[in-house]
Amino acid sequence: MKDHQFSPESLMMSHGYNHELSEGAIKSPIFQTSTFAFKTAEEGKAFFEVAYGLREKKEKEELGLIYSRINNPDLEILENRLCLWDGAEDCAVFSSGMSAISTVLMEFTKPGDVLLYCLPIYGGTDHFIKHILTKYQVEIVPYSSHDSKEDIINRLEATGKADRLSLVYVETPANPTNKLIDLKICKDIANKYSTRENPVYMAVDNTYMGPLWSHPLKHGADIVMYSATKYIGGHSDLIAGAVLGSTEVMERVKALRTFLGNMATPYVSWLMMRSLETLKIRMDQQALNAAALAQFLQQHEKIEKVYYLGFLEEDPKEYEIFKNNGYTSPGAMISVLVKGGEKEAFVLLNHLKLAKLAVSLGSTETLAQHPASMTHAGIDPEEKKQFGITDNLIRVSVGVENADDLIFDFEQALGKI
Ligand SMILES: *Cc1c(COP(=O)(O)O)cnc(C)c1O
Repeated sequence: MKDHQFSPESLMMSHGYNHELSEGAIKSPIFQTSTFAFKTAEEGKAFFEVAYGLREKKEKEELGLIYSRINNPDLEILENRLCLWDGAEDCAVFSSGMSAISTVLMEFTKPGDVLLYCLPIYGGTDHFIKHILTKYQVEIVPYSSHDSKEDIINRLEATGKADRLSLVYVETPANPTNKLIDLKICKDIANKYSTRENPVYMAVDNTYMGPLWSHPLKHGADIVMYSATKYIGGHSDLIAGAVLGSTEVMERVKALRTFLGNMATPYVSWLMMRSLETLKIRMDQQALNAAALAQFLQQHEKIEKVYYLGFLEEDPKEYEIFKNNGYTSPGAMISVLVKGGEKEAFVLLNHLKLAKLAVSLGSTETLAQHPASMTHAGIDPEEKKQFGITDNLIRVSVGVENADDLIFDFEQALGKI
């Protein structure tokens, strides 16, 4: 009993919050304040010394509350709670997934450095890498799940600047086809080029499978990023992001966040704390529903193929990665190829009654969309073809509804084709 460790889901209601500091309130209030009063001038001076790194923190000394761009109780409690799922030392919460991702990309690359990044990748990340990082003379080298370790190394060496590799960026599973990238290969490459003076970091966008079903920090990642808009927020009512990693890495991330000013607000942080209380039961139910819906779709005569991580046994190479990278569930994202083309795909989408036709994912309600004309509309036709983003592809994010109702909904809509 003595050594019993509470699970993250048990700690989401209380961890990091001291109700005695808030009039006994059982829930953390929204600390809707921009600034904090110091007890004495000496205290204010001490807080700033720590915040600005003018001296080392003393043992057990915490960063005092100064100003809500630097820290705020709602932000800090939320960050402590998020650390538990990934087993991270520290966390920073951001105003969006894109602000979390762009802050990491800016902090861990500088002019002349090389960034290795996977394709396909979230559209906003793709734009930031191709059009913004390159303005600052960062050399960008793409790779994909089709490449072997040797292919990626050859491409890196071909730049003549492999020794300037500074960041290996990963997003897995691929959106929208659920293709997996092997974290082990990425880590091997990061290690191969890492030196004491020039460490190579590995950053993983874990939005699709985290923070429950995949834990990249335990599989070689130095940095994990989230669009907290998705599963973590989970109710399609907020935009937020998060970055997690070691104390050392997070000091850099938090310093840049302070000066970009892209932290989450107290209210959004408070909403996310509310979301975290049900994170596990939501994601468990979403995964169960996805398994039932995938089974149904797999045997339907109007469906050509189902991309779902629960069906990987057919593909030994993918299944190996799934097992070796420590996934604990096939998740709740399903993509299907409808027999036919855009016309048939649109008939299905237009006739769903319970599932909603919208982009985004990870929320309590089931969402369906058409990647080729929606989330991936901006990708050039060659790349679309290469990554299997065809006109008959539909992506479904499965919610917490009754599974039989979801199956009924897809059955009746498929019947309209
Ligand atoms: C949604 C999403 C993002 C961007 O997050 P925002 O919260 O919309 O800024 C980044 N990566 C992935 C995988 C996403 O799904």
